Amino acid sequence: MSTLSFRNVWVEYGDQVVLERINLEIDSGTFLSVVGPSGAGKSTLLQLILGQRRPTQGSVLLDGKPFPAEPGPDRGIVFQRYSVFPHLTVLGNVLLGYELAERAFTARLLGEPRRKAIEKSLALIEAVGLDQHRDKYPSALSGGMQQRLAIAQAIAKHPRVLLLDEPFGALDPGTRAQMHALIKPLWRDLKMTIVMVTHDIKEAFGLATRLIALDRVRHDPQAPERFGAMITYDLDLTRDSAVPVLGFTKAEAKSGHKTLERN
Ligand code: ADP
Repeated sequence: MSTLSFRNVWVEYGDQVVLERINLEIDSGTFLSVVGPSGAGKSTLLQLILGQRRPTQGSVLLDGKPFPAEPGPDRGIVFQRYSVFPHLTVLGNVLLGYELAERAFTARLLGEPRRKAIEKSLALIEAVGLDQHRDKYPSALSGGMQQRLAIAQAIAKHPRVLLLDEPFGALDPGTRAQMHALIKPLWRDLKMTIVMVTHDIKEAFGLATRLIALDRVRHDPQAPERFGAMITYDLDLTRDSAVPVLGFTKAEAKSGHKTLERN
């Protein structure tokens, strides 16, 4: 069954059409990459899933039902810039993720539930490689560590869908590679649906099981805002065949690790 469905979705800001005719069924457990030029509406697509924005026309469904009016713990998001709480330690930040998932209004767990939440938080902190740093505050962590923490905090809420908005864009290439090695097993183990916006085409191909590209295909020189972006490519990356798109082909190395080569 599809976790997420977009049915003839249009988004307009005044006279500007940003997205038009988006029809998309995203199966549970998919790792979807979204690519496209700046301004194509990638972040808008994430905001629709998050429930922060309503389509002008059409509907977005989560597990077959219309979204609640508010963003909820079933959808977590990690932004490019670290979105952790500076006044809480690593453990405090992850624990808050659990508390928000279970006690949305008071955000406080006491007694046995709190003890269990601490245990789970510590396991998650270990899974993202921050066990040596659990009592530190975010200001004492590197950018990559803060991003690991943001991922742990988002995952603590047990989201059905994890949204990643250029999550590794601000990291140096070495740290980025470490984050790639981290996110794929987490996605697999936790059986999440991930929707990731990225500018990095190698990252898009290397991590995802499916890739869509958004772009404007129709242009009106007299009224450049008249047409919105549509889905111009929709690729199943789990198939073995080479995929000719955007100047890249995908090749499987012997180890089963994905590599990319320019055409
Ligand atoms: P992308 O993430 O692909 O760069 P965005 O989704 O951020 O694209 O934006 C798509 C278009 O929508 C842009 O032209 C942007 O200016 C416009 N836009 C985004 N948010 C708003 C808003 N709140 N009000 C008006 N226009 C907006």
